[in-house]
Amino acid sequence: MVLGKFFRFLFDSILPRRCRKCGQILTNEGELCEKCLSELNFIYPPYCKKCGHPLTDSENSGKMLCAVCLSRKRSPFRMSRSALYYDDASKNLILAFKFMDKTENARLLAAMLKVAGEDIFAAGADVIVPVPLHYTRLIKRRYNQSALLAYELGRYTGLPVDCSSLVRHKKTRPQVEFSGTERARNVKKAFSVRHPEKLAGKRVVLIDDVLTTGSTLRECAVALKKAGVRSIDTLTVARVC
Ligand SMILES: [Zn+2]
Ligand SMILES: [Zn+2]
Repeated sequence: MVLGKFFRFLFDSILPRRCRKCGQILTNEGELCEKCLSELNFIYPPYCKKCGHPLTDSENSGKMLCAVCLSRKRSPFRMSRSALYYDDASKNLILAFKFMDKTENARLLAAMLKVAGEDIFAAGADVIVPVPLHYTRLIKRRYNQSALLAYELGRYTGLPVDCSSLVRHKKTRPQVEFSGTERARNVKKAFSVRHPEKLAGKRVVLIDDVLTTGSTLRECAVALKKAGVRSIDTLTVARVC
């Protein structure tokens, strides 16, 4: 382990730094080359102050809420924020992180989460909780991408990270295989909280990589509410708009 760290240090100091996305040798200070950075579509204001959905200028009057949030009476979430639009550019970055062992991307993506989550952290948060994988998938993939994001975000924000209380007890099919209402059915009652006392009364920031229909995050919210959390915010790297 110590030797591993030593070699890592040696490599880092000898080898040129490369772009996290395309692998090109970096000449700038960041983690991405100029080209890859310019291709990413960050979500900037104006966006709905509740769900984070980008607002058009015509909607951007008065309350800063989107039409859905204005009409919906209850949402399980206090606020939702995402760093990027989910498109080809962000998709490649996230898929590499998720399936190709590019775990070193966690730091870069977590830095984006910290910026995107500014409103959440300003409003106050107590604990960061990643969307869990079922243990069988965790064994297969060896790491939970959301947990890696959560740990890095914890380092950036100084907030504690709880990766063990919220569990996915039901083995579900990957959400990409379904659409719309099928997604909601797929994850129905899939989550539970193992140590409710650890989360009761806390303001939870729920972390995932992509927000698509929100079914997974909403099911997590059902379990978290049952455990008595005070509020839930969601923070995702990208969202389908
Ligand atoms: Zn690049
Ligand atoms: Zn909204």
